[in-house]
Amino acid sequence: MTTSLIPTATLGTPRIGPRRELKAALESYWSGKTREADLLEAAATLRAANWARQKAHGITIIPSNDFSLYDQVLDTSVMVGAIPELYGWRGGKVPLAVYFAMARGADGAQAEPACSHAPAPVQGVPAQEMTKWFDTNYHYMVPEFMPGQRFELASLKAVDEYREAKALGYETRPVLLGPITFLKLGKSKEPDFDTLSLLGNLLPVYVDVLRRLAANGAEWVQIDEPCLVLDLDPAARDALRRTYASIAHALPNLKIMLAAYFGALDDNLELALSLPVAGLHLDLARAPEQLDAVAEKARPGLVLSLGAIDGRNVWRANLPAVVERLRKVVAKRGTDHVQLAPSCSLLHVPIDLELETDLDPDLKSWLAFSVQKMDELCVLSAALSGDETRVKDALEASAAAAAARRTSPKVHHPAVAARIEAVTAEMATRKSAFAARAEVQRRRLDLPAFPTTTIGSFPQTSEVRKARSDHAKGALSDDAYASFLREETARAVRWQEEIGLDVLVHGEFERNDMVQYFGEQLSGFAFTRHGWVQSYGSRYVRPPILFGDVARPAPMTVEWWRYAQSLTTKPLKGMLTGPVTILNWSFVRDDIPRGTACRQIALAIRDEVQDLEAAGAAMIQIDEAALREGLPLRRRQWGEYLQWAVACFHLCTSGVADETQIHTHMCYSEFNDIIDAIGAMDADVISIETSRSKMELLDAFTSYKYPNEIGPGVYDIHSPRVPAVSEMTDLVARARQRLDDSQIWINPDCGLKTRRWEEVRPALVNMVAAAREIRAAA
Ligand code: GLN
Ligand code: ZN
Repeated sequence: MTTSLIPTATLGTPRIGPRRELKAALESYWSGKTREADLLEAAATLRAANWARQKAHGITIIPSNDFSLYDQVLDTSVMVGAIPELYGWRGGKVPLAVYFAMARGADGAQAEPACSHAPAPVQGVPAQEMTKWFDTNYHYMVPEFMPGQRFELASLKAVDEYREAKALGYETRPVLLGPITFLKLGKSKEPDFDTLSLLGNLLPVYVDVLRRLAANGAEWVQIDEPCLVLDLDPAARDALRRTYASIAHALPNLKIMLAAYFGALDDNLELALSLPVAGLHLDLARAPEQLDAVAEKARPGLVLSLGAIDGRNVWRANLPAVVERLRKVVAKRGTDHVQLAPSCSLLHVPIDLELETDLDPDLKSWLAFSVQKMDELCVLSAALSGDETRVKDALEASAAAAAARRTSPKVHHPAVAARIEAVTAEMATRKSAFAARAEVQRRRLDLPAFPTTTIGSFPQTSEVRKARSDHAKGALSDDAYASFLREETARAVRWQEEIGLDVLVHGEFERNDMVQYFGEQLSGFAFTRHGWVQSYGSRYVRPPILFGDVARPAPMTVEWWRYAQSLTTKPLKGMLTGPVTILNWSFVRDDIPRGTACRQIALAIRDEVQDLEAAGAAMIQIDEAALREGLPLRRRQWGEYLQWAVACFHLCTSGVADETQIHTHMCYSEFNDIIDAIGAMDADVISIETSRSKMELLDAFTSYKYPNEIGPGVYDIHSPRVPAVSEMTDLVARARQRLDDSQIWINPDCGLKTRRWEEVRPALVNMVAAAREIRAAA
């Protein structure tokens, strides 16, 4: 064969290092142990290793500027000088201190997330706001714009890193976040400000960067515009047209690979194909069905980057099947007009499966992390370039692994499937409507008006964390660890009683993480040792891998609940994580629909709920912190998601008697656009985060005429500050304008695991005092 090999690209790689080297370098710099030069050197070493790794694994289109010390959106804000006044930048090169102040606030203490998965602001000069990057669990720093915002080229990072690679012998394709996605992700303090109106000011800076890249020899630049998979209004479409026309006009010889990922182009397809760019990247993992339409409609000269390897998940591909799917488009367009890539940057998967030495060998043979995905791309490239015989073994091994996974008894449990089949509508319906349940619950529980409670966790102190890690290392025996935890629990229960809380919790000291704790006890989940992915900045998570049918071999929380309840006559809530949250914070199977996997988890949680009830629990809380996070990127897919998400909640909660009170908790939520689903969940009590919005989030409940009980958070647990009694009575007064008194509970915004006892004690004492004051006056 004389055809050349189809190029392979990664679009971006994880930056954290196989041993979390970036975290170590950042943290020692932040703590003052090392200097700026040390941090920069560590970063350069990581970049060089990334380039070398890609080269060694046969990647031919290696990216540059995909590295970041903290976040690529923050890098973009800095690149274009979108640096709010308060960070003290006065032009010139942006100092690292300014960069990290935007990332973490200026008092040097890293933002501690209240929930292990979600970020929070700090005191002092605040960090920029942080939020989730599309539907991933990566968080970016939200760009902040003001009306009339000026931009200027303030960082040459993209050019510097291109040159750095070149000096090391790598010709790279630099990556930039596209101007439209950047503007759309940004916010302004000015209400209703249209960030796209800044495009005219922004474009010259982009053109300047591109010009410098071209001048330094870059032939191609990858511009990421994941906004192309969102619902776009005509103004946004127009802005895209203007942007790429200006770039083409200014730099007619520079080739742009426009990357759209995380979904289908769908109604933006014609637009994407009409832009004057040299290449278009497609996500064919999320949206394989768009390939035919694109192949047909794309103009002949357009290079298609085929994102056929899943960049968001950890599964090994079935390569012969992928080859079959892509063969036609390759034949039609020619090997020089296609490229092979993951569906999106490899940022969202762990680095190297080979580091995992304890995984079940079968499971391991079904997985691919970033390095393995590079190998897969090269096999695909050979197979599709007419060099199939060279990769015959690899293709066969891939097909064999896929076949084994399809039939493995480690994955498929007929009993689980049968149970899903046997689910009836009755199993997902509580016996009586809320009004009747509330009545019997009131009689059983005999709570005061405005009952007080907390969300579940108490401080995970350094002693708790040390005991856990000593136990994991084998330095602390099972017995010693258990008695340590019992002691912590008992102390927390006694203290809650002492300060006069009405509904108690056990404190969750035994839990490492609200998802992992359950995953470790359910069959069908596996855990890695080194499978870290960046959540934000230097905060990485190791998501559980949901690989098989889920079952609950034994009760998971009943003993802890029983012990804690035995210490008090006050009601103590059973505390569970809900199926949607477990699902959304895991790597999920790709061989069954998400909704089916969720239903399996729901049945396991249902069993736990029923066991708690049988053990005597009068109240059971099922946290669905990540319910909103799971919303699809496209509006019209929301309904389907919410339908199964709510159905799963019902499945968990409907096996109990009317007199058992079901609580749920959600944080970081806006409720306006999902209030119907929240209402449909029909939890007896929902606690939500409302203190920072001064109860405005309750408006959604008011206009919905939400009938059930609500605990709107009166204490912002993201801040170490202890709220005064009057602040909390004020917030309750605001809640009372929006809800009926009989609906209202009094509780903090979220769990207290990231706080210190020194903060928690006075805050909750004040909260109880606030409740008493309100009752006395009511
Ligand atoms: N019960 C959990 C806790 O208190 C809930 C955490 C969360 O909502 N993220 O920590
Ligand atoms: Zn919460």
